[in-house]
Amino acid sequence: MNRPALRKYVNPQFLSDLPEGPCYDAGHLVTVNAGWRTRKPVLDSEACTGCYICYMNCPEGVIFKSDDKVDIDYDFCKGCGICANGCPKDAIVMIREGEA
Ligand code: SF4
Ligand code: SF4
Repeated sequence: MNRPALRKYVNPQFLSDLPEGPCYDAGHLVTVNAGWRTRKPVLDSEACTGCYICYMNCPEGVIFKSDDKVDIDYDFCKGCGICANGCPKDAIVMIREGEA
């Protein structure tokens, strides 16, 4: 079975060393969402304070910094809801795919 090659992971020394782009740009993922996600996170940028808790918690690394707040790379989000569950401002809600 041919598996996609992953780039070598280098442990960051400082928070500022973490990639600011989506996980794909950072080289941690190599294929896009295959369409199996059933729920997706929707961000309320007005409610978001830019605390980056979701950025740190997302297991897929698909939340990225954007204009002092965050954005989500839906190509690689798996819809787990961890970001919504941990947001202290309830700025992320999970909706069914196809509802928005
Ligand atoms: S955890 Fe909530 S408030 Fe903090 S950056 Fe993410 S969406 Fe914004
Ligand atoms: S639903 Fe899961 S994979 Fe998608 S952005 Fe939130 S924490 Fe990351």
